[in-house]
This record gives sequence, C-alpha cells and structure tokens, in this order.
Amino acid sequence: MSQLVEVRVPDIGDFKDIPIIDLLVKVGDSVKVEDALMTLESDKATLDVPSPMAGVIQEMKVKLGDKVSTGTLVAMLMVSEVANEVANVSAPPAIQSKPQPEAPPKVVSPSLGGAGDAAARPGNQPATSTAARFSGTADIVCDLLVLGAGPGGYSAAFRAADLGLKTVLVERYATLGGVCLNVGCIPSKALLHVAEVMDEAAHASTLGIQFAAPTIDLDRLRQHKAGVVSKLTTGLAGMAKARKVEVVRGLGRFLDAYHLELETTTGSGQEKTGATHVIRFTQCIIAAGSSAIHLPFIPDLPKDPRIVDSTGALEFPFVPKRMLVIGGGIIGLEMATVYATLGAKVDVVEMQDVLMQGPDRDLVAVWAKQNTSRFERIMLKTKTVSVESQVESLVVTFSGKDAPKERKHYDLILQAAGRVPNGKKIDAANAGVLVTDRGFIPVDNQMRTNVPHIFAIGDIVGQPMLAHKAVHEAHVAAEVAAGMKSYFDARVIPSVAYTHPEVAWVGVGEDEAKESGRKVTVAKFPWAASGRAIANGAEYGFTKLLFDAETHRVIGGSMVGPHAGDMIGEVALAIEMGADATDIGKTIHPHPTLGESIGMAAEVAHGSCTDLPPPRKR
Ligand SMILES: Cc1cc2nc3c(=O)[nH]c(=O)nc-3n(C[C@H](O)[C@H](O)[C@H](O)COP(=O)(O)OP(=O)(O)OC[C@H]3O[C@@H](n4cnc5c(N)ncnc54)[C@H](O)[C@@H]3O)c2cc1C
Repeated sequence: MSQLVEVRVPDIGDFKDIPIIDLLVKVGDSVKVEDALMTLESDKATLDVPSPMAGVIQEMKVKLGDKVSTGTLVAMLMVSEVANEVANVSAPPAIQSKPQPEAPPKVVSPSLGGAGDAAARPGNQPATSTAARFSGTADIVCDLLVLGAGPGGYSAAFRAADLGLKTVLVERYATLGGVCLNVGCIPSKALLHVAEVMDEAAHASTLGIQFAAPTIDLDRLRQHKAGVVSKLTTGLAGMAKARKVEVVRGLGRFLDAYHLELETTTGSGQEKTGATHVIRFTQCIIAAGSSAIHLPFIPDLPKDPRIVDSTGALEFPFVPKRMLVIGGGIIGLEMATVYATLGAKVDVVEMQDVLMQGPDRDLVAVWAKQNTSRFERIMLKTKTVSVESQVESLVVTFSGKDAPKERKHYDLILQAAGRVPNGKKIDAANAGVLVTDRGFIPVDNQMRTNVPHIFAIGDIVGQPMLAHKAVHEAHVAAEVAAGMKSYFDARVIPSVAYTHPEVAWVGVGEDEAKESGRKVTVAKFPWAASGRAIANGAEYGFTKLLFDAETHRVIGGSMVGPHAGDMIGEVALAIEMGADATDIGKTIHPHPTLGESIGMAAEVAHGSCTDLPPPRKR
C-alpha cells in the first residue's frame, strides 16, 4: 500500500529563514531514507535536509533560493510501506555464497575534498591488475572484516556492529587498542603525568611548600602505567563482546579481494602457532596502522637493549645517566620530558633547523624557554652519523650545525625519527588495493580504497598520524559500509604536544598564513593577564586565534601552557561551526579558567577586551 507523506525541514535548532542553495531531487525521483533532498546554507553552517522515508517525490513545495525554517513543508513523497519496512532493517550486504569473480575493481569517484593531509587519494588512479583469486574454503564468514584493532580498527568494528553488520576484528597482539592504548598515547601520558607531578612538586617550593627530593620506584611506576593500559584494553575486550564483534587473533594477509588468511599468534608478542584460518568477507576495513622507523646506521635493536624505539622507551628499562633522543618531534620530546624529569641527562638531536614541526614558532619559543634547564643539549640541523655499541656505553658521532667535535657516550638511545605505515606488510596487492611507495593506502573521502568494498583508515592512509583522526575515519568507513552516506569532511584536525608546557594548535597557523600570503587578523591573549594562569604559575603561556580577513570567521588557533590540549577542542568546534570573533567572545566562559583565554583572544580581535590595556587608537 502507498501513501502520500509531507516532508518538512527537521529541527535545525535556532536557524531561521535559511536559504536553499541546492535542490538535489526533482519530481519523479526515487529516494531512500536519509537521502539528502536539498542543501541549506546559513552564515554559520551548511545543512542537508534528509528524506525521512524511502519513496518517490510527487511534488516540490519549494524552489532554489526559498528561505526555510524548522517545520517548513518542502516536498510531498509517495511512500510504499513495503519499501520502508525493508529500508528500516539495517540490511548488511548479502554474503556471497562463492567468492566474487574478479571483475576488475572499479575506480571510485575522485575525492570531494576532506581528510586534511591524508595520503594521495585514489582519484582516477587505475586499479592494480595484480589482484589474486583464492579458490579454497573459508573457516569464518562475515559481512565486515576489520584488519587491526587500534583506535581506528576497534572504533570501526564497534560502529559497524552497532549498525547491524556481522563483524570480525583481526589483531595480531593479545590485547585490543593498537599502538595508541598499548604503546603510544596512553602509556606515554601515564608517564607524563608522573613527570608533571614531579614538576609541580619542585615548583611548590616557590609557593612556600617544600617537599623532599623524590625517590623513584621504577617497579611501581611501571605498574602504574601497565594498570592504566590494562584497564582500557580489558574494557575494549568487554565492549567487543557486548557488541558480538568476533575478535580473532593472528597475523592477517590478503589472499584476494574477498579473503584474508590469518596465521594465528600467541603469547604477549606475535609468536606464530603454525595454525592458519581463512576469513571470507563481503567488505573490509584496513586499519593496520604504522610502525616506528629504525635508522639504518644503528645496530639492530634486539642486539643492544640500550637502543630502543618508543615502545622500548615506554617499558622504562632503567633511568639512564646519559640519554640521546634522536628526533625532535612530538614523540621524541614527550619521552625526553619524562626521562629528563626522572633524572636522566638528555640530549636531543634533530636534522631539521627546528624542534616540534607543526605549531607556530612563537609557541615553540615559549616551550623552549620553559625547558632550557630540562635538557642538556639540543642539537639542531645535526645528524647522527654512527652509533658504536661498546660495553660501557653507546658511542655516537654527529655531524652538522650543532655537532659536538668529540664523540659522545650514552647509556640509552631512543630512536624517534618518525613512523612508517604498514601498507606493504599485508599483501594488499592480492586484493587489488593500491599502496604507495611509502606504504600508504590512498582513499577517497568515504575512506574507500581503489577497490570499492575495501576501506582503509588511520595511520595507514596518511598524515597526521593521530588517534582522533583514525577514530573519525573509522566511523565514516563503518557507516558507509553499512549503507549510510557519510563522509570525512572535517575542516580541521587538532594536534597536541603533551610536553611541559603543552602546545596545541588547529587549523591555519600564523606562520603558514604569512608564507602563503593569506590575509588574516591575528589576536593574542597573553596568560600574564589571566588570573587563573597567574595563580597556577603559568603566566608565560598565551592563546592565539586567527580570523580570515574577509569572512571574519575563525580559521585557526593555538595555545601554549598547561592544559592547552584540553582546550584546543573549543577552537576546533568554532572553526567547524564557522564562528567569528563575536560568537566566541560573546560565549560566556567560566571564570577563573585558562579556557577564558579563548574568549578573551576573540575579544582582542573584536576590540572589546577589558582585561588588557586599551587597544591603540587607529
Ligand atoms: C609513543 C607514541 C605516542 C603517541 N601519542 C599520541 C597522542 O598523544 N595522541 C594521538 O592522537 N596520537 C598519538 N600517537 C599516535 C597514535 O598512536 C596513532 O595515530 C594511532 O594509534 C593510529 O591508530 P590506527 O588504528 O591507525 O593504528 P594502530 O594503533 O597502529 O593499530 C594498528 C593495529 O593493527 C595491528 N596489525 C597491523 N598489521 C596487522 C596484521 N597484518 N594482522 C593483524 N593485525 C595487524 C597492529 O598490531 C595494531 O594493533 C602516539 C604514537 C606513539 C608511538
């Protein structure tokens, strides 16, 4: 039975009289539930009006340019009950009784833009012709296979299961959570918290509170870190179970575009048991992440336990007397902060002429000033040429701008020279999936690879290699796999160095704007004028906002100081919402907080800040 249904603009909050800037359907068109019917654009946001049901458009009640509000009648839709019952069942794609014949994988449509710095998009690149064909039988059959259980992989698996797909999650290690939870974001922050407590205790003497010099119990420290990790990874295992996501342990490699072979693994590492399984999938999300770069001129890691990557450094073998950190990026500086605070004399060597690439130099200058006494020596534009493993120490030769003339002796060396994607380690070519020379897998803005039913997310698709980017991409991929029209269309991805002090930035930076010649208004609020910052001993910090000179919308922001990482999300939200200085400045921030500095920076741009000396008359 069919019936005529009114389609009205859903609740769009406070927006009123918003013009229609695009009509996406016409009379006679068939639409599915959630298909976009038209696009509205206010000065703040662009919104799509979705179809509430599946059906055929009978009549359009509006035309291009008309202004609409919540509840405006926009179309009449003829709906069939049967069609909508079917649509309401979150139907996963049917499992093929046989592997699909190898029709050459279609090249997906070019990207509509989106995923920031993600690696090359598939665009019009040809699908590779190397795809294999597997003709054996499968042990496990699923709608969706997710390869890798990092923040990208588990988020994709959980979202897909919530949307009704029979999901299998493959992970080579014993616990879920990938690099981030096991050997990355979380354990490093557990250790940085300890370093922060020590810094605070040392600072307390200037406030009239004297603590005794700290004694360090490394076993307890390791237990604290392991406890934090275990709480989170055990929680993930429970959530996988609650969602009926089947977790299968082993090392996966593609056999063809519909089959993955799994060599099962055991123990705390990747020891193979010798057993193999084949999993057949209808769709797949590759979330196999990245690995630390091991420098070629350094003796093999297992041969000398005094040479570690970030995973080894987080195990905290001992507090070395002298430590070298190779790489002045975020990971290197975070680990250097921990080791130096715990008592190691730390040198940092960086090939580029600056530390911490990414944020504006004025933020890094504040960080550097606060850290002059923490590190022994910072060597910029300097290369590590050789490392000799001797009984007493590791002997290192440097060359370049800040290279010491003599060889230097260290007890521990951390290689933090970057990470490489794992794209070349999963036999992706057997599935016809393109992998770049550097190991990235190109995707479009629905996270599809060049093989349309295979998606990729997280570190393996490109920069920035950050957990929150992986999670957002994961949700998009899972939703698209479940038939939803989702896109990765975030305007910005925030970054944070959880050093002491923290440095956080998002969107366009001042240095970048200067280089590109983009016209911007820059507004800075020094924390020396923030009551809370002064009370906390953080008056050295500042908050900066950048506004486009023509649209006046906020396009970037950054801050340096304690909790900068906790506050940068507000600036990201303002950018996503297209806010201007009035929107941010008129948003009442609680007092006294460091977050107030964002509102005050906006007031500086607006010319209405009363917490600073009066603006100069123009
Ligand atoms: C020391 C350190 C600190 C970091 N701190 C932060 C931070 O503070 N904030 C932040 O946003 N990011 C941080 N990162 C980066 C963050 O960890 C990564 O961006 C994030 O983990 C990427 O998620 P992912 O899901 O793409 O991949 P990963 O987390 O790398 O997960 C991939 C998973 O796939 C598995 N896998 C790979 N190949 C196979 C295979 N063939 N078969 C089976 N399983 C396989 C791996 O074992 C792994 O579990 C940090 C990284 C490091 C190293």
